[in-house]
Amino acid sequence: MTKIFNDPAEFAEEALAGFCDVHSDLVRQVSGGAVRRYRPAQPKVAVLAGGGSGHYPAFSGLIGTGLADGAVVGNIFTSPSAQQAYSVAKAAESGAGVVFTYGNYAGDVMNFGMASERLAAEGIAVENVLVTDDIASAPPSETEKRRGIAGDFTVFKVLGAAAERGDSLAEVVRLGRKANRRTRTIGSAFAGCTFPGAEAPLFSLPDGQMGLGLGIHGEPGLHDTGLPSAKELGQELVGRLLAETPESAGERIAVILNGLGATKHEELFVLWGTVAPLLRAEGYTLVMPEVGELVTSLDMAGVSLTVTWLDEELEPLWVAPAETPAYRRGNAARETGGAAVEGTSDGGASAADFDATEASRGYAATCVAAIEAARTALHEAEERLGRMDAIAGDGDHGRGMVRGVDAASAAASAALEQGAGAGDVLAAAGDAWADKAGGTSGVLWGAGLRAWGESLGNAEVPGPRELAAGVAAFANRIVQLGKAETGDKTMVDALLPFTAAFSRLVAEGTGQAAAWEEAAQAAAGAAQATAALLPLKGRARPLAEKSLGTPDPGATSLAMIFAVIGPHVTGAAVPPGPSVREPVGAQQQ
Ligand code: ADP
Ligand code: MG
Repeated sequence: MTKIFNDPAEFAEEALAGFCDVHSDLVRQVSGGAVRRYRPAQPKVAVLAGGGSGHYPAFSGLIGTGLADGAVVGNIFTSPSAQQAYSVAKAAESGAGVVFTYGNYAGDVMNFGMASERLAAEGIAVENVLVTDDIASAPPSETEKRRGIAGDFTVFKVLGAAAERGDSLAEVVRLGRKANRRTRTIGSAFAGCTFPGAEAPLFSLPDGQMGLGLGIHGEPGLHDTGLPSAKELGQELVGRLLAETPESAGERIAVILNGLGATKHEELFVLWGTVAPLLRAEGYTLVMPEVGELVTSLDMAGVSLTVTWLDEELEPLWVAPAETPAYRRGNAARETGGAAVEGTSDGGASAADFDATEASRGYAATCVAAIEAARTALHEAEERLGRMDAIAGDGDHGRGMVRGVDAASAAASAALEQGAGAGDVLAAAGDAWADKAGGTSGVLWGAGLRAWGESLGNAEVPGPRELAAGVAAFANRIVQLGKAETGDKTMVDALLPFTAAFSRLVAEGTGQAAAWEEAAQAAAGAAQATAALLPLKGRARPLAEKSLGTPDPGATSLAMIFAVIGPHVTGAAVPPGPSVREPVGAQQQ
């Protein structure tokens, strides 16, 4: 929905004026659109992109060295007039001819065609390069009927780079048409866009639906399907594009994963995580791929995938530098002289040499089983914990705990397999928990588990007193880091009653299994009692009043975990077999 406008009818013009003001170092507003601020030193072919507004950064955002010489700017989703095209061409032309380039739409074809006739009559050499990349818009036997969508960008880039290096008009046009013949795009829409001032989007999709084969003027997809996962979407887009691989295609491709305006970059990166490996698996080398917004459709939610099959002529033009308001491609980063670093790095240590007694390794297996029990319980409680956190917090407690315990469980199992003792297993679990969980509770659980592991060591199987010391180390670390006090309405409100009860019972000579069980009940009661408290720490504090009547999520999850790990850590449970990990998440789907 567009919120910032004056008269909706003036929107495109006002936007262009603002754009030209902010980028006045690179562009200059002229009648009908905008052109580069600086005239070329030598005559060069003027590449003029155009079409309606509503597609930023297409088309005015692409004016600059290595790309367009000017943009002809129509109203929203409306072809510019022949007069506009003519006057922009007159402003940009420097004696080597003009090429108009645009997506294949009837209005554009007519208006740019008429402007071309007028320019030609004045003796200016002029050509038109139409973009027809959208494979959903006509069958392969009628490619000339296809409309232009995000493939505009690769075609413009090739034209712009060829003109910049001084190619003749005929050569620029030949290369541009070749790029177009080797470019394919397929898109999908999730939600329609809304014109400034309009009350409803141009189309809408039922919840959970996606339109495959979108257009960039708010045209919905050509057919609707259920909303797939990112992975399925990536497979669908790649599959459809590769089915149209041009003849004589090589192994090097330019790729654009384009957002339509309301689809976040993060979503595009998630999708890229499927798209890129699929293309590489087909033997392709991805040359300077682009993921972002290059050709949008107002605030439409959707994506498109474009592939241009490069060859030895097109690749240098695709990778050539460009500097425009919305798009910069340089070689500064590569020219700094340092060597490129290969591979990814998480800064983590490699498998440590673990030093542990057999007894401690045995107890380590029990710890792994305890974490596994916590994992099962947290997966079951994920949604409930999230709802509790959403009342006054941000709703992520269930998700955070699940991420944390999943990572902890995997790390603990891996450490055990490498021969770690119990202390190292808990420390590894804690580090992984803190790394993956995020959130306040993640840091605290992670650091607490590591402290517990350090207290435990890798030699002895803990008796009641060592167990009490381990739990105390866990609690102290959490209090030291989080600085919460009893009554602040945090997990500490369940944790401290647990440690107090367990130490007391153990000191009184109660068996550790029974002591644990009784202490866990105290923690559960204390967690429940936090319902009456106002949060004084953490994210729930600003909305404290709202949280009255609901127990603290962190205290609730802590009490729950302590209840289920008891039989394991106290040795009351039967020791587990070698393979205890079940895909718990799968049961939740
Ligand atoms: P975030 O608050 O970062 O979204 P979570 O939602 O995972 O993290 O965890 C929230 C829980 O963290 C709260 O319910 C509370 O129990 C606990 N918590 C928040 N701040 C503190 C603190 N300073 N000390 C101890 N526990 C805290
Ligand atoms: Mg939270």
